[in-house]
Amino acid sequence: MKRWIGGGLILLMIAVLVLRGREGESRFERQIYVMGTLVTITLRAPGWAETDLAALVATVESDLNQFQQRWSPRGRGELAQLNAALASEASASVPAELQPLLTAAKGVADDSFGTFDPGLGALVQLWGFDDPEHFRELPPPADAITKARQRPHRLSHVQLSGNTLRAESPGLLLDFGAMAKGAAVSAALQRLQTAGISHAMVNAGGDLQVIGHAESRPWRIAVRHPRPPEDAPRLLVALELRDGEAVFTSGDYERYFEHDGRRYHHLLDPRTGEPATGSQSSTVLHEDPALADALATALFVGGSERFYDLVDEFGLTYAMLMDDQGIVHATPGFLERAQWLTDVRFAQEQAAQ
Ligand code: AMP
Ligand code: MG
Repeated sequence: MKRWIGGGLILLMIAVLVLRGREGESRFERQIYVMGTLVTITLRAPGWAETDLAALVATVESDLNQFQQRWSPRGRGELAQLNAALASEASASVPAELQPLLTAAKGVADDSFGTFDPGLGALVQLWGFDDPEHFRELPPPADAITKARQRPHRLSHVQLSGNTLRAESPGLLLDFGAMAKGAAVSAALQRLQTAGISHAMVNAGGDLQVIGHAESRPWRIAVRHPRPPEDAPRLLVALELRDGEAVFTSGDYERYFEHDGRRYHHLLDPRTGEPATGSQSSTVLHEDPALADALATALFVGGSERFYDLVDEFGLTYAMLMDDQGIVHATPGFLERAQWLTDVRFAQEQAAQ
């Protein structure tokens, strides 16, 4: 069986669905397809002409296209060029445009107990999760995984000083798939804010950030259930968001194939080179979308074992994990704000609260 998020499917598999506003609210909404994702931009801008809003969305679209090119591991953008240099050299100079996000990503990689690491680009390619055209129906042979792991595959083992990146040896391939969408959403909202918009939501295939509010009440969103029970809503939990908050989810339902009764998905454990086990989905609510994105991936890979370590390390107030048994682990802050939309089983530490 194979699945790939893309095109029309995205509508079915979207991780967070926006709960519709009340009738009569005047909202301007456009969808654009960029970074392999359907991005929905919702604006509430009383007094703006529709043509001006459409022009603004077109600017955001071109920003996002540029962003996609810059952060693609392959192709002709800045990251691809850095990867090309690192293929044959242990060190390379990092273009200025990549430096802030690369530094932030290294910070997360260094402190995430080995769960998050954009250095695993070669493994992502080996597993075929980098491109729908490379999709596999069987896991790669064990010796190919071993070989890929013999190449440098840890940003956390790399030295960054000034604009120089120094790996242990040639062969590092960087992939920012776990964090770039967060940075893109953040850049899109900043563009809207700079243009004078105060109320907006940018939703990139279920990962989103809001500013302002939805008319007289806060923006309300819902996170997808990774294994929706039959005849029940596909949604797990709803949240009301405050100005500037972002919600990012990583799930094993986004890109996967099944073989011999096991699901092989796109969230790899840098410690093993294989899809992480122990989680179905993870959600982080944070004011920094790039951090929310990276940490949702880290929480997924860390599973219930590392949930509280990661929460403490990064000072997360709002985070949730559904483990492979369908049991929910969540921070007290998340539990306070969560409106559960289906029956959920909580881990013992929560049940005791
Ligand atoms: P996300 O959907 O944000 O969790 O990101 C998943 C994408 O990030 C994958 O498609 C890979 O490109 C990349 N990736 C997979 N596993 C990891 C990991 N453990 N750390 C960093 N990036 C990863
Ligand atoms: Mg992520």
